[in-house]
Formats: sequence, structure tokens, C-alpha cells
Amino acid sequence: MAERYQNYVGGAWTDATSGNVSTSINPADLSDVIGEFQASNSADADAAITAASDAKEGWRRTSSLARGSYLFKAAAYLENNLEKYAQAVTRESGKAILESRGEVGRAIALLQYYGVEGSNPVGTVVPSVNPNILLYTNRMPLGVVSLITPWNFPIAIPIWKMAPALVYGNTVVLKPASATPYVATLIARMWEAVDLPSGVFNLLTGSGGTVGNELITSPMVSAISFTGSTRIGMQIAVESAKRGNKYQLEMGGKNPVIVLPDADLEQAAEITVSGAMKYSGQKCTATSRAIVVGNVMEEFTSLVVDKTRKLKIGPGIEEDSIVVPVIDQVSKDNIKSMIERGVADGGTVLTGGGAPTGPEYDAGTFVEPTVITEVAPDAFVACEEIFGPVLSIIPAADAEDALEIANSVEYGLSAGIFTRNLNSVLDFADRIEAGIVKINGETAGVEPQVPFGGMKASSSGNREQGKAAIEFFTQTKTIYVDRSAT
Ligand code: NAP
Repeated sequence: MAERYQNYVGGAWTDATSGNVSTSINPADLSDVIGEFQASNSADADAAITAASDAKEGWRRTSSLARGSYLFKAAAYLENNLEKYAQAVTRESGKAILESRGEVGRAIALLQYYGVEGSNPVGTVVPSVNPNILLYTNRMPLGVVSLITPWNFPIAIPIWKMAPALVYGNTVVLKPASATPYVATLIARMWEAVDLPSGVFNLLTGSGGTVGNELITSPMVSAISFTGSTRIGMQIAVESAKRGNKYQLEMGGKNPVIVLPDADLEQAAEITVSGAMKYSGQKCTATSRAIVVGNVMEEFTSLVVDKTRKLKIGPGIEEDSIVVPVIDQVSKDNIKSMIERGVADGGTVLTGGGAPTGPEYDAGTFVEPTVITEVAPDAFVACEEIFGPVLSIIPAADAEDALEIANSVEYGLSAGIFTRNLNSVLDFADRIEAGIVKINGETAGVEPQVPFGGMKASSSGNREQGKAAIEFFTQTKTIYVDRSAT
């Protein structure tokens, strides 16, 4: 029988009041049940929020240096347990083990980065017009912050939200995706192992549709940091705006690369395939559209197809797997129907298009890496996020046309260009509607010490990561001290 796991609320492991549980399944082997997890309801959410609220004053009064030291201890704990955590990420999300190790490494880097933030200034002294006045600013925590996260980076995304939230003095309730509650439970164990004070971090598993409302609308919650689909993100924005609460949303993408005729085509094809197919295209920054200018279309397409056909499809636990299972059967069916729609709209599948067969593949939710060409820029498959290993190749007349196509979708997360021409690079960097811009590089793959986020329907609110995180997780007070009044 599968092991049963609990919520972590107020420093204690607790059952949901409903008495119900749901299971988490390994996408590479649907017979592998990872565990049973609490199917929490709004009363459980209220209990977690109350625990965070009860802890907030004590945590606010803890020095930021001491808060940072918990992050350093957590980083050291993760370093000591890196392989165990990476294996868990692979088992639950399907990710290739090399990428899972990288993800845990990134979580460690984030904890260390924000650990250092604990000793950095949080305000400024500003000259006053009145020499008797000491005028300064101070960054204050918000209070209780709800963190609602997706399944695709089950450790890095929760950590990149909670590390700054905690170091700047907030308490948090984490609601992970229903597909990855086990990795979230391991995050709670990490905080338990480093003796983080009770109630500062709380974990609540369960369906977003059931507990989400409480996490967003409770009067005890001051802010919501969300990563996930644009549809849910926009609902959170509306509810938060009604209450005057802060919100930060990282959402979908339809990330393009532009290939100009002067590009190193071999390199462009290699990077495009990597960006589109690794983790089966399930990164918010994955490459989804290749917009190819002029007469290099044939050569670039043939390179992309050749490289795609060579990719090893297999379970993430095998070190050489590149194309791994997608998260679940619903996602697999959805990807299949989007490919079919691409064909119905006039596209041609050059490789892939179905599911690989054989005992290893039948056990999980595998989709073949797929390249579709002759795609119109406004076709459904070229505009909507697929979140699968599917690349659309779109022709463009010239660089101007390519930029117009790249900017024509509602999303604006990450974008790249392949060229050797400096003017083309600078023009693209200025005019592309994307928060992350890559020159001769992969649209996926970012560093934690710089701001992360998109434009248009991809993001809303302050940027995450790097120094930018302080903008969301604190509010500024301006203090006037009149020494002549004493
Ligand atoms: P999702 O369905 O929007 O779920 C995200 C989180 O929201 C999950 O924890 C989910 O819980 C929760 N949720 C669902 N309904 C809710 C509600 N009514 N109220 C409050 N919370 C609710 O997205 P996903 O399928 O997990 O993740 C894939 C999406 O995330 C893609 O669109 C991808 O582009 C985006 N993403 C964006 C970034 C970025 O940084 N821009 C990074 C990674 C992923 P349940 O799982 O229980 O439903």
C-alpha cells in the first residue's frame, strides 16, 4: 500500500479534516503510486493561514540575518540530500534526472542567494529639507503570503518564491500542484530539519479548485504569488484586485526563436531542438515557434528534423533520456489533439505526431517529439501554448515580418534570435515583446540572480528572483524623525 503523507501546519504534521486523500503517480510508470496526500478543504486552508498569521509577528521581529541563516542551513541540507531530492523530482514530474539534479542545484543557489540578502540593506537614509529631521525608508514584510505553484519545477519554483518571502520577514502557505505533492512534502521536511520556527512555513496539499479560494480571499492573507496557467492566474488577479491585495503572476508562454539567413544554422537548429524538446517542452520558457527568414528554411528545417529524430525518448531516470513522459494522460491527450488541429489547419508533420509504442513507453505518458511545418502564423497551433514536445516552423519574408509574427501572440515570456548581425540583435532586443531575450541562445534556461518574468499575458505584477524579488515581498515605509521635538 502507498505511504500516506500529511500537511505541515504550525510545525506539526496533520491530516485534512475531510479524511480524504488523493494519489500522486509516476508519469514514466503509471503503476508506480508515489503516495497518498491530504485532500484538504477550505477549513484546512484556514488552519494553515491561521498558523502563518500567528507566526508572522515573531518572524517579523527575528533579525533578517537570523532569517537568512535558516536559508543557509536549508541550502546545506539540500546539498547533503541532493540526489534523494533529484530522484524524487524525476519520479514525480517525469523530468530527466540530469535536469532534476540541475533543478535541485538551482534551489540551493536560490537559498544561498537570499540567505545573503538577509545581511543586505533594506532602506535608505535620505536628506531632509529640515536639518532636524532624520528621514529614512524601511522595507517591511507584507505578512502572510500564499504561494500557489505548478508541477513542472516542483522544487525550484516553490523555493524561488519562499526564499525571498521568508528572508524579507513574511510567513507562507505553500499549495503545490496536485501532480507533485511529494516533492512539496520534501520541502516541508527540509524546513523541519533546520528547525524553522513553527508556522513560518506551512504546506497544504489538495486541489486548487477546492482550497484556492480560501488562499486568495482570506482576510489574513496579504499577497499571492502564483505560477501556472494564464486562465487561473487571471482569476487570481481579479479576486486580489477586489481586496486590494498584492499579486504576482507567472503564466503561460508561446516562445519564439527567429532564424535570420546569416545565422550559424547548425548551432541554431541544435539550440532550437534542445529548447523545444527537453523535458518534452514542459517548461514555461520552452521554444514553441521557429520563425525562419528567407531561403534558409529548407536547410534549417532538415537540420531540425534530423536532430529531433535522434533524441532519446525514455523515462527520466535513464541518464541519456531527453524526451521524457508528459505529466499525465490528460496532458498527453491534449497535446495529441493540438497536433491534429495543427494538421487540420494546413500544417504538415515532418516527424513525430503520435506516441511511441513498446512496453517501456506503454507504461507511461510518452509523446513523440514533433515538428510541424507550413504553419500559418495565426493558426491555433502557432498561437496557443501546447506544453508538449511540439515545434511549429513558420516562414517569414524578412526580419521585420518575423518580428511581427513573433509579437503577434498574446504571450511574451521568452524569445530568441539567431544571427551574427549586431544591428539585428539590438533591434530585436529593443522591439521583441518578451521579458527574457536570448541572443544565439536557448529560450529556456535562466539564472537565479537576475529578474525573471514576462510581458503581456505571461506575467503580471513584480518580477521574481534576483534583487527584483524585494519589490513584491516587501512594502516601503517612509519615516520622519524630528529631533527638535524632544
Ligand atoms: P495550473 O493548472 O494553472 O495550476 C497551477 C497551480 O494553481 C496548481 O497548484 C493548481 O492546483 C492551482 N489551481 C488550480 N485551480 C485553482 C484555483 N481555482 N484557485 C487557485 N489555485 C488553483 O497550471 P499547471 O498545469 O500546474 O502548470 C502549467 C502552466 O504553468 C503552464 O501554463 C506554464 O506555462 C505555466 N508556468 C509558468 C511559469 C512562469 O514562470 N511563467 C513557470 C512554470 C509554469 P491543482 O494542481 O490542484 O489544480
